[in-house]
Amino acid sequence: MDEPRDPAPGDGSSRQPAVGVGRLSPVQQAYSAYTVHYLACVICRDVDRGWCDVAEQLWKVYQAADEVAYRKLTG
Ligand SMILES: [Zn+2]
Repeated sequence: MDEPRDPAPGDGSSRQPAVGVGRLSPVQQAYSAYTVHYLACVICRDVDRGWCDVAEQLWKVYQAADEVAYRKLTG
């Protein structure tokens, strides 16, 4: 009888984009876009390279989506 095997080990990175079975909320989509960019961007991954304009814009989009969601909750 075949026993289930453990999944293969990851690459050691703790940051992962949001992954869901269903549709992501706007906040999750914005955070996922930021995280996907961060993981692939040479500038973001190297603290000595300075500020990344793309990451800054994606972070602002995330903050705006978060603010909209917060206002909906607090009405
Ligand atoms: Zn970047």
